[in-house]
Amino acid sequence: MPRTFRPRLTVVAALLLFLPPLEAAEKSSAYQAALSSISASELGNEVGELADVALEGREAGTAGGHAAGEHLAEQYKRLRFAGAGPEGGYFQPFAPNFRNVLAVLPGSDPKLRDQVIVVGAHYDHLGYGGRSSLGPYGYVHPGADDNASGTSAVLEIAQAFSLLPSPPKRTVLFAHWDAEEKGLLGSKYWVANPTLPREHVAAMINLDMIGRLRENRLNVYGVGSGAGWRRLVSLANEEGLHLAFRYDVSNRADHHPFYATGIPVVMFHTGMHDQYHRPSDAAQLINKEGLEKVARLVFAVAYELADGTASPAFRTATPVDPESPLTGKPVDRLGVGWNDDAATAGGVRVTLVKHDTPAERAGVQTGDLIVRFAGRDIRCDADFFATVSSAESPATVTVVRSESPKPVDLKVELVGDPLRWGFTWRVDEAETGAIILTHVVPGSPADQAGLAIGDRVYRVAGRDFADETEFARLVKTSAESLQLLVERDGRVRHVPLRARLSETIRRAA
Ligand SMILES: [Zn+2]
Repeated sequence: MPRTFRPRLTVVAALLLFLPPLEAAEKSSAYQAALSSISASELGNEVGELADVALEGREAGTAGGHAAGEHLAEQYKRLRFAGAGPEGGYFQPFAPNFRNVLAVLPGSDPKLRDQVIVVGAHYDHLGYGGRSSLGPYGYVHPGADDNASGTSAVLEIAQAFSLLPSPPKRTVLFAHWDAEEKGLLGSKYWVANPTLPREHVAAMINLDMIGRLRENRLNVYGVGSGAGWRRLVSLANEEGLHLAFRYDVSNRADHHPFYATGIPVVMFHTGMHDQYHRPSDAAQLINKEGLEKVARLVFAVAYELADGTASPAFRTATPVDPESPLTGKPVDRLGVGWNDDAATAGGVRVTLVKHDTPAERAGVQTGDLIVRFAGRDIRCDADFFATVSSAESPATVTVVRSESPKPVDLKVELVGDPLRWGFTWRVDEAETGAIILTHVVPGSPADQAGLAIGDRVYRVAGRDFADETEFARLVKTSAESLQLLVERDGRVRHVPLRARLSETIRRAA
């Protein structure tokens, strides 16, 4: 098969060490203590209490639902949080006999404390069944995952905030919605009757079913609703979770009423299971260690939103993942097809010279064996890919021909810019200060460093960049090595690229 420039799968040994983002080290020890106060055992105990048969499945408006609300209010009282209900208490009642549980941590910065970050989860479930039960009916539906898991995480995160020596700059509202299972009634009611100024809500985090972490995989929904969500969540992901980002915003969860009024939202969710909306959604099936990881990640995200420089700017979410399609095929700089002839002849054999291309103009012929290009010996495919893509123009190509006793040097005027590091990119519409790799040249420094199509770059040489122009400038001005902060599946790591071809380029220039 003749080869032309096209993406191919490259398998590179995973030399990439997972390293936590730089901020981790910079955060204070008080922050670290608060973070590590979030524990699997406390979360597990709380899920156990909420899912206990005594609360009868926490259906909104029932005795069990009311008892669950009392229990939550008591926890906030114990933590000395102020209530954020309409009268300053913990409850926000609404018809017929439902109630949200609300507590607030006022921000510490006089200029920023008006802004509110909402961390919420619904605490109601299905009681003994009802219309949305998948059966069997007549038994307590404990709703351990749905949503004792999210409820206990909100409490545990609130407790972690309470351990900080001073609150974050912005205000945090901890919200436990009632009657979610009856049609998002609690969250809709709050949005229609906000107890803090709704126009000051900068972001909303929704936790719904986060107790069944499997294979370290966490779904993150709605990242399309705010510019910068994915970057912010990834940089906070010190737990090393595999994050599956979704850009659309479903209208079937409590974050939707917030989104509908122009607030950036994000929802965490560990995925569906066979016990969903059944009496078998029990506490013993909760992955407590997984719940701890998710709750710690959410605390880190909430803290960054509450204390960081900025929160994501609202944008209308696209149902389409901006990663698809990735069309980053670089220009064909030379215009040949070839076979790797490394084993028999030691070079690449030209099988095709395309019409009206640099190769044709330079006099390259079908059957030529290319042994040297731009001052570099060509032994195999990867050499050739990497060299052609990174060479300055004009370049000298050395070919061996059967009719000629000596190798022939040809001067070729390459088209397109040299890809020094061996990757092409485009901007991510949903994120400022991030680019997405659209092509990685086999054998290039980027390939050798293990980079792949779809990887996102957030920093160059330890520095943020504002836009594509600044990114391009930082990449161009790096000489011998290039330090990138790269994200893949929500995991961030430092990737050093080494300019192995620099000598070649200098000689050719
Ligand atoms: Zn549910």
